[in-house]
Amino acid sequence: MADHFQLRLVDSVMLAPTVRHLVFERVDGQPLAFQPGQFLQVHFHYDDGTATKRSYSVGSVGDGSSPSALTEVGRIEIAVSYVEGGAATKLLGELPHGGVIDASGPYGRFCLQEADTHPRYLLLATGTGVTPYRAMLPQIEKLLAAGDREVVLLYGARNETELLYGEEFEAFAQTHPGFHFHGCLSREARAVPRSGDRSGHVQHVLAELGPHADRDIAYLCGNPNMVDAAFAALQEFGLPVKQIRREKYISSR
Ligand SMILES: Cc1cc2nc3c(=O)[nH]c(=O)nc-3n(C[C@H](O)[C@H](O)[C@H](O)COP(=O)(O)OP(=O)(O)OC[C@H]3O[C@@H](n4cnc5c(N)ncnc54)[C@H](O)[C@@H]3O)c2cc1C
Repeated sequence: MADHFQLRLVDSVMLAPTVRHLVFERVDGQPLAFQPGQFLQVHFHYDDGTATKRSYSVGSVGDGSSPSALTEVGRIEIAVSYVEGGAATKLLGELPHGGVIDASGPYGRFCLQEADTHPRYLLLATGTGVTPYRAMLPQIEKLLAAGDREVVLLYGARNETELLYGEEFEAFAQTHPGFHFHGCLSREARAVPRSGDRSGHVQHVLAELGPHADRDIAYLCGNPNMVDAAFAALQEFGLPVKQIRREKYISSR
């Protein structure tokens, strides 16, 4: 159930030239209980005093110990991409360590579901849309431990500096043979290419995987144009709508 609380910024780092990773703790000292894939809303006011809010996916990686679908984390991590002239961009981009914001959540149903039995998961993302999959890693680890599943992450970026958390996903792939990570670079190849790299947009790299309704369930997150294009491509491969879950990062003003 959604809750209202205050968050204090305790750490931050620039993940890419225009993306800030922010780490918060709840001011009331409580952990955040959420399902990996869910998002928070940040509440603030425009300069004229009008109230507004923006959504951000929770990227925190829990310890995987929770027996329920809920994960509890003390450190609430989000990744915020710079949007020119954006109100929340200004608030979150300039927030000093120790700064406090109002938030609520968790919200959303872009989550892995225990009832799903498909052998292969196709996870597609662009930009900060990869954050929910980072939070899902402990669940993905459990899925893979059963031995009969495969998870493929296709992550679209213009160049290697924009592959957020790329090294974390690479490391996870190294230690989990059922997890495959493909950085799909649309503008510039990596200086030192890696075997998982692909060139082009995620929706075009899909064809290589031969999506099939009997095998796959797909998750699409991030830029709305990518989500729409990948949705159309997956439907052409025969995936029914119920096997394609979507989270579009539209501005919620
Ligand atoms: C469910 C959900 C989860 C989200 N999770 C994240 C997340 O984890 N990280 C993240 O960075 N964002 C995320 N977003 C987007 C986020 O909520 C804001 O929309 C975004 O940060 C821009 O807010 P802003 O106030 O800075 O810009 P606004 O003040 O809303 O917009 C400023 C101007 O930029 C335009 N604009 C808005 N967004 C974009 C864009 N993406 N690209 C180009 N132009 C744009 C607007 O039309 C407007 O003209 C998510 C959105 C949803 C719906």
